Amino acid sequence: MLVQGKTALVTGGSRGIGREIVLTLLNNGASVYYIDLAEGESLAEYQEIAAKHGQKAVFKQGNVADEAAITATCEQILEESGGIDILVNNAGITRDGLVFRMTAKDWNDVLTINLTSAFYISKVISRSMIKRRVGSVINVASIVGVIGNGGQTNYSASKAGLIGFTKSLAREVAGRGVRVNAIAPGFINTKMTEQLNEEQRDALRAQIPLGRIGEPEEVAKVVLFLASDLASYVTGQVVHITGGMGM
Ligand code: NAP
Repeated sequence: MLVQGKTALVTGGSRGIGREIVLTLLNNGASVYYIDLAEGESLAEYQEIAAKHGQKAVFKQGNVADEAAITATCEQILEESGGIDILVNNAGITRDGLVFRMTAKDWNDVLTINLTSAFYISKVISRSMIKRRVGSVINVASIVGVIGNGGQTNYSASKAGLIGFTKSLAREVAGRGVRVNAIAPGFINTKMTEQLNEEQRDALRAQIPLGRIGEPEEVAKVVLFLASDLASYVTGQVVHITGGMGM
């Protein structure tokens, strides 16, 4: 029960990596608010786990790219919850293509959803963390933001930007007891990667020292560590969760 009694906010918490993060935080004693475009199928399961620990699981519909709406939603969550201890900026998309074929819309959508949304949300939530002198922010970047990937200039720029944002925010808020870290997953089995065919998967496995694609639970466990007091002296870091790829 590493986050017993804490309250978390997770974006993109309906499925994929976000779903595993919500489940792991709930199973370790936190209450969890999650924001997503749609409720999905997980809420009843989340509420059942939360109830077992005397905690809450609450869904808020929202588009993280809409500044006015997401700011209002975060303010409402702060009021309802009495304070957020753990923020996980997880919502993200891909719109892959070679740079000379990429539209400005595909560039801007990826930058806004993957990077600018973390600014909108952290602005509201970290202000409240500073006042309470407690908090852990975890930004879900990607190994592609560190090593690059052909066909993903927009995605890798957004994730590299998120890493820079993480380190700068970590410096801004460290003096008030708030920690800010990023994680950089490699290839993880979710809807985002399910379009890869077997040949592409084999090529990927060949680049991964542990020889396999990762599972969302393996990402969630690192988020739990960073969210918990086990990581009380860890801030401004980028933790790679890649099976050794890009080491
Ligand atoms: P996913 O299965 O596609 O889930 C993404 C979640 O974010 C979905 O619930 C999605 O909602 C939500 N979302 C998308 N746009 C949103 C918006 N504008 N407002 C609110 N919610 C929004 O992806 P994933 O693989 O779990 O990825 C989660 C994070 O990990 C992303 O930041 C991704 O870049 C990062 N990551 C993933 C991998 C990987 O291999 N899978 C590797 C490195 C990093 P809908 O279901 O309604 O679309």
